[in-house]
Amino acid sequence: DGRERIAKVIARAGVASRRDAEDMIAAARVTLNGGTVQSPAINVGPGDRITIDGQALPARERTRLWLYHKPAGLVTTKHDPEGRPTVFSRLPPDLPRVISIGRLDINTEGLLLLTNDGGLARVLAHPDTGWLRRYRVRAFGSVGADALERLSQGITVDGMHYGPIQASIQRQQGDNIWLMIGLREGKNREVKRVLEHLGLQVNRLIRLSFGPFQLGDMADGAVEEISTRVLRDQL
Ligand code: URA
Repeated sequence: DGRERIAKVIARAGVASRRDAEDMIAAARVTLNGGTVQSPAINVGPGDRITIDGQALPARERTRLWLYHKPAGLVTTKHDPEGRPTVFSRLPPDLPRVISIGRLDINTEGLLLLTNDGGLARVLAHPDTGWLRRYRVRAFGSVGADALERLSQGITVDGMHYGPIQASIQRQQGDNIWLMIGLREGKNREVKRVLEHLGLQVNRLIRLSFGPFQLGDMADGAVEEISTRVLRDQL
């Protein structure tokens, strides 16, 4: 019937762990519809009003997801100890509080997913989740198709193992080569480290897609929310 134990509801609102919620109830700090809650076993539903220390429990927001075209030059962190400009300082002011799903390096451009749901961010950023990430890469140097082909077997670089990577040559442009890369783990600096191992120096890196979501022709710095209907289909 959609009713759940009050301690669970408090925990899910992000205010306290379930254990802490039970302690708060034991300490008579929690009210339900105006009366002090006596037991953590009490069930509550959507219409019920809960307070802790007189403060209303924040309503759990639905999961929301945004596509962001990250420009080069921004770090993907909330606070940079070196004081460099961050992604979060450049987002539109009307956006709710969001976190990124994984990170892009400071000089990497392209698709970065943002969400208000910490659990979703953790799941999708995890190397085992396995959504395909596609990149367009410009690198100084040259490489043969055979060397790239070998990346599809996976590769170990400096003791770090990377699973299968799809890589193909788009074109040589003077001293640079343009490649398309597809990988599913998204480990730290994966594209740069693997290509460096092949003698290439990445000097432009653009993420084109992350799972079912595409950068498309989004303008640099633009933010677009994914509709609830699309989210339901894809997650
Ligand atoms: N691989 C990298 O090396 N850097 C990124 O930002 C993303 C993938």
